[in-house]
Amino acid sequence: MAFFKTVIAKLATEASSNRCNPFIAFVLGGPGSGKGTQCVKIAETFRFAHLSAGDLLREEMSSNSENGTMIHDIIKDGKIVPSEITVNLLRKAIHSSGNHKFLIDGFPRNEENRISFERIVGVEPDIVLFFDCPEEEMVKRVLNRNQGRVDDNIDTMKKRLEVFKKLNLPVIDYYSAKGKVCKINAVGTVNEVFEKVQPVLAALRI
Ligand code: UDP
Ligand code: MG
Repeated sequence: MAFFKTVIAKLATEASSNRCNPFIAFVLGGPGSGKGTQCVKIAETFRFAHLSAGDLLREEMSSNSENGTMIHDIIKDGKIVPSEITVNLLRKAIHSSGNHKFLIDGFPRNEENRISFERIVGVEPDIVLFFDCPEEEMVKRVLNRNQGRVDDNIDTMKKRLEVFKKLNLPVIDYYSAKGKVCKINAVGTVNEVFEKVQPVLAALRI
């Protein structure tokens, strides 16, 4: 708890110092950990723009763009879309938004994503929210959510969990070592989890 308070205090000081860069929060966690759901509530309460990398890719996939089929096949296989595509979608969305505070939901998924974002967008995240959830709970949520997604089935879900452990956890470890990660226990109702998220955001005073 003491460590947690130190992290928040450091982030709050940095966040409130004079800045011209956008305020960036990466929101990470396994598939079905509740990133998107909590982002909607955070965006509403704290007036962030919510950019979901997965949603941007799904929009791109359905817009009949030249990359549509490739994106579909990668998502269906639980793998990660080449960074160039995702980072460009995020960059455009950041620049066309009138906001200066962003929740980047479900990104970066791997080291290549992280490096590419920092190079192309030119900023590091100010904070990383990590929704920590047991696998059985994530599987249950994904298989029950009925959003008609090509990747919400048991076979793809198994692959996504493997990709999360192998490629995404190292990104979380990287930012942990920089003191930027706030880990939130993602088990509970939407409101119970939000009760744990709210003080973290409130303490940033941005
Ligand atoms: N995806 C990707 N790069 C990203 C974000 C998502 O390649 O930066 C792909 C990947 O195949 C992932 C899928 O989109 O499994 C769904 O991601 P999303 O974040 O929407 O799923 P969630 O984790 O919220 O269930
Ligand atoms: Mg999501």
